[in-house]
Amino acid sequence: MQILTGQVPTVDAFPDDLMFEDEDPGTVPERPSAAAVPWPILVVDDDEQVHAMTRVLLKDFEFEGRRFAIVSAFSAAEAREILAERSDLPVVLLDVVMETQDAGLHLVHHIRRDLGNRHIRIILRTGQPGQAPEREAIVAYDINDYKSKAELTAQKLFTSLVGAVRSWRDLVTIETLNQSLERRVAERTAELERQTALADGQRRFIENLVEMMPSPVWYKDAAGRYALCNRAFRELFPNAADGIEWSAGRRTASEPMPAGTGAFSFESSVEGPDGRTRELLVVKRPLTAPDGTETGVIGIATDITERRRMEHELHRLATTDPLSGAHNRRQILELLDRIVDGQGAGTACLVMLDIDHFKRINDGLGHAAGDVAIRRVVEEIRRQLRGSDQIGRIGGEEFAILLPETSRTGGAAIAERLRSGLAALAIELPDGRCFQLTGSFGLTEVRPLEDTVESVLGRADQALYRAKALGRNRVEAA
Ligand code: GH3
Ligand code: MG
Ligand code: MG
Repeated sequence: MQILTGQVPTVDAFPDDLMFEDEDPGTVPERPSAAAVPWPILVVDDDEQVHAMTRVLLKDFEFEGRRFAIVSAFSAAEAREILAERSDLPVVLLDVVMETQDAGLHLVHHIRRDLGNRHIRIILRTGQPGQAPEREAIVAYDINDYKSKAELTAQKLFTSLVGAVRSWRDLVTIETLNQSLERRVAERTAELERQTALADGQRRFIENLVEMMPSPVWYKDAAGRYALCNRAFRELFPNAADGIEWSAGRRTASEPMPAGTGAFSFESSVEGPDGRTRELLVVKRPLTAPDGTETGVIGIATDITERRRMEHELHRLATTDPLSGAHNRRQILELLDRIVDGQGAGTACLVMLDIDHFKRINDGLGHAAGDVAIRRVVEEIRRQLRGSDQIGRIGGEEFAILLPETSRTGGAAIAERLRSGLAALAIELPDGRCFQLTGSFGLTEVRPLEDTVESVLGRADQALYRAKALGRNRVEAA
């Protein structure tokens, strides 16, 4: 295996996962018993004698329970091949003069520069010590010992080797730890970046979503300031910083939302920047910090102006007679029912009106003229009534007039006034023709909590029947 810069030789005794079990690089486990594996020492020398000699000198020594095994290269070239294959060599004992005068120094260059092997300890051994190129190499290439061959006693060699093996092992260990640390830092950094990117994405998604929402959305902080809001909010409340001016009129009571969310809702109206009043359904929810303190309120408003307008329109259509604009039968009977139920104040009167000889108008002037007559009769009666009085069209040319808080005599006077008003009414047709009509009136008092709708209608009908029977264009009271 070639050792590349930054790549650490595999040290079988220090597997990464063992080292970082408790994340404390201070407690490197002891070497497991690898007693059988000797320390491989690369001896590079063109002198066979030196190899044999070294082997003999080291024969009986061991360090940390491991013997030394000589790996022999007899030239710098052969050493290159071995070094290219092996990353487990802690020490090279290196001759200087071999194929060339400085073959050993070139090999040092090769080891440090080309192979990038920064760990192997290099001990130069030479027969002719102290030459200038060797000194330069010592400085440049981290040569770790320098021995003359004459110094090679067993004891000296062993001392040098032990020192070299130890420092090689330390270097490898430190590098292994460093790389492990760097890898873990890189992993955690990557994970952190991934999470940050994810949170960032979610934040942008929510921000954009809120900004795009057609409903005004806002956050009011604990001090009551509008701290955050979206585009729809800014459009509806351009001056929210000064507070929101809710219309004094309609504001419903707050209703709690379901499921204990702390949220509540109410309806209110507000004048928009264009001067138009908007009906809003507002939902608010207090925000609380984990310790329970309130940090503000978020709100969302739904514009229900159009919904309310349609509801009103539907109600109007459901309760109004389309021809005359008076209440329809169901509505006027509903209003009568409320008074019968005691929801009104005091006595009331019901007046039934039936136009006299209406068939003649239809027959003589046409059905359209009859319609005009119906509309004009309602107009005329309304003109004479108070705001609290109600008129409804009961049937074809028959009307019920409800007079709240009116006594029998008061009701009779009103009915008489209506009768004379109708009789005096000149009805003009679009083609310029003009005609008049009269009506018969039957009046009865309404007795709340005693009467029913049917009993009141029955009496009024009887009175009306009598008015017809007695010659029409008159008021009869039950
Ligand atoms: P009376 O004096 O006895 O009340 O006689 P009348 O002709 O007024 O009464 P009658 O009940 O005999 O006729 C009422 C007519 O009203 C019959 C019907 O065709 C007509 N009518 C009912 N609804 C409408 C309507 O919406 N438009 C018009 N033009 N005529 C209607
Ligand atoms: Mg009639
Ligand atoms: Mg009739």
